[in-house]
Amino acid sequence: MSPARSSASESRGRYTPEAAGALVPGSDGPAGSRPYNPITPRRASLMQEPVLVLNATYEPINVTAVRRAMVLMLKGVAQAEEMHNSEVHSAAHAHKVPSVIRLLAYRHIPQQSRALSRKNILLRDRNTCQFCGRIFPSSELTLDHVVPRSRGGRSSWENLVACCYRCNNGKGDRTPEEAGLKLARRPRPFTLHTSRQLMRLIGHRDERWRKYLFY
Ligand SMILES: [Zn+2]
Repeated sequence: MSPARSSASESRGRYTPEAAGALVPGSDGPAGSRPYNPITPRRASLMQEPVLVLNATYEPINVTAVRRAMVLMLKGVAQAEEMHNSEVHSAAHAHKVPSVIRLLAYRHIPQQSRALSRKNILLRDRNTCQFCGRIFPSSELTLDHVVPRSRGGRSSWENLVACCYRCNNGKGDRTPEEAGLKLARRPRPFTLHTSRQLMRLIGHRDERWRKYLFY
C-alpha cells in the first residue's frame, strides 16, 4: 500500500513510550520536545500536521505530528500506511510525509492511559463548561471539583470538570445538588473511546484516515 513499507518492516519494531506521545500535535508530551531530528523541514507547518497512529492490529490509538511520525519510521518502530501528497527535504533526500502510520510491534493500551492534567480535562470536556453547557476558550475555563476538596473530593478524572468562572463562583464550596446545578454528563476517565472520538474530529480533514476510524 505504501512505498515506505519495505525498509521499515525489516527493522526490529521496538516500541518506546514516546510513541504514544501527545494526542494533539504540538501539545505537551515528548512528541515535540525531542532534540534528535535528522530532517530539515522545508515548511515547518507540514511537520506539525497530524498523523494517525495505528497499533500493529490497525486499531487507531493516537494522533501525533508528522515530525514525530517520521522519527518513529526512521527508528523502525512504525511504518507508513498512507502518505501525504507533500514531501520534506533533508540535505540529500526528499522524504515522503506520512498521513497514517502503524506500529510494527503490538502495544497494549491501558484503559486509562492519559495523564490527568488541566489540558486533558478541557480536551475531554471539549472546552465546554459542564454546568452551563457553553463553550469557552481555555483561558476562560477553570477546573471544578464536583465534590469540593474541602468535603473530601479528590482530584481525579471522575471529580474534575471544565467549568467557566461564573459557574465556578456560583457553585462555591458546594456540591452541584446543593448549588442547584446539573452536570452536563458524568465525568469519566479519558479512555481510548474518548481519544477515538477526538481522532475522528481531527480526521475529518484527512480522507485517508477514514477507513481506519470508521469501522
Ligand atoms: Zn458555566
